[in-house]
Amino acid sequence: MDVKKQLLNLTPYQPGKTMDEVKRELGLEKIVKLASNENPYGCSPTVKQELIQHLGKAATYPDGYARELRETLAIHAGVSESELIFGNGSDEVIQILCRAMLEPGKNTVMPTPSFPQYKHNAVIEGAEIREILLKDGYHQLDEMLKSIDENTAIVWLCSPNNPTGTYINEELLVSFLEEVPRNTLVVVDEAYKEYVTAKDYPETVDLLKRFPNLLITRTFSKAYGLASFRIGYGIANEKLIRIIEPAREPFNTSTMAQAAAKAAVGDQSFIEKCVTQNKEGLEQYYSFCLEMKLAYYPSEGNFILIDFQTDADLLFQYLMKKGYIVRSGKALGYPTCLRITVGTQEQNAEIISYLKEYKMKQAI
Ligand SMILES: *Cc1c(COP(=O)(O)O)cnc(C)c1O
Repeated sequence: MDVKKQLLNLTPYQPGKTMDEVKRELGLEKIVKLASNENPYGCSPTVKQELIQHLGKAATYPDGYARELRETLAIHAGVSESELIFGNGSDEVIQILCRAMLEPGKNTVMPTPSFPQYKHNAVIEGAEIREILLKDGYHQLDEMLKSIDENTAIVWLCSPNNPTGTYINEELLVSFLEEVPRNTLVVVDEAYKEYVTAKDYPETVDLLKRFPNLLITRTFSKAYGLASFRIGYGIANEKLIRIIEPAREPFNTSTMAQAAAKAAVGDQSFIEKCVTQNKEGLEQYYSFCLEMKLAYYPSEGNFILIDFQTDADLLFQYLMKKGYIVRSGKALGYPTCLRITVGTQEQNAEIISYLKEYKMKQAI
């Protein structure tokens, strides 16, 4: 059987071992996963109460337009309802965009190392990939601009960037958008937006009127703590949303996911608490790095990329035996780094003590 030839060069996403598998294999009692930037505090307690209301609705299709969530989110995000598109995770919004806009003969510009799904989906659509290396962890926006031509359909920006945690400030973003041709879509992936505290992080929603080729993606998987429900969204001007909508499956987000997301948006005090605790957690890692003289990128997300100047896979294995699953930088383009999701204060302290122990042993 023939599949698209570009599929032959792709590997399916390799899910990490489940926590239960790791527990069993290593005979551990406790295991903490700080590998996928999930919220260590879970989600708002209001979500559970809301979900119970919907348990009897399993036999009926969800609302394909997600009206109730749409209403709530539009108010929260300060946009109109027609400026939103929902996806089965923001992963699916990325897929919808690629499906709608990419084909052989088109090209797409993206930073690297960054979130892998931009490239993955673009490859499937047969578009040419133009990857621009980060410089010191930051997007090289000038280089990205230079690689745009009349066949560039999508430019991807990830801010804060996964895996570095670095962001694009308002001034840089605006001058970039001013230079991009209006027939090239600029996607700003804001999966970690809720965690950002930098004063010069742009209010991208305010830029939508000025830049009709701008689309923002956000998700309920990270700060909102709803990764298992698979729900994310895109924001763009109404006309742009209307032309990409046919590439979305009619019932792509479930009744439960819509209800959970709606309840989660309604509890902003939960998010505020998580953001405060996340900042304190990042400070724990910053002082550790300072003390141990380790290089890291200042992060506006809920994770930190630290350079341990050692084989990241070995350090990863060591932490797993201690009951902590983090992300080795090997597959992320940083072979001597770990990407660690900021956990609870207690988890951060414990993982830091193990990391110190490892560095001590290495020094001997
Ligand atoms: C986690 C993540 C996403 C995808 O999240 P979904 O669960 O699919 O909503 C998108 N972009 C970045 C940068 C991420 O880190």
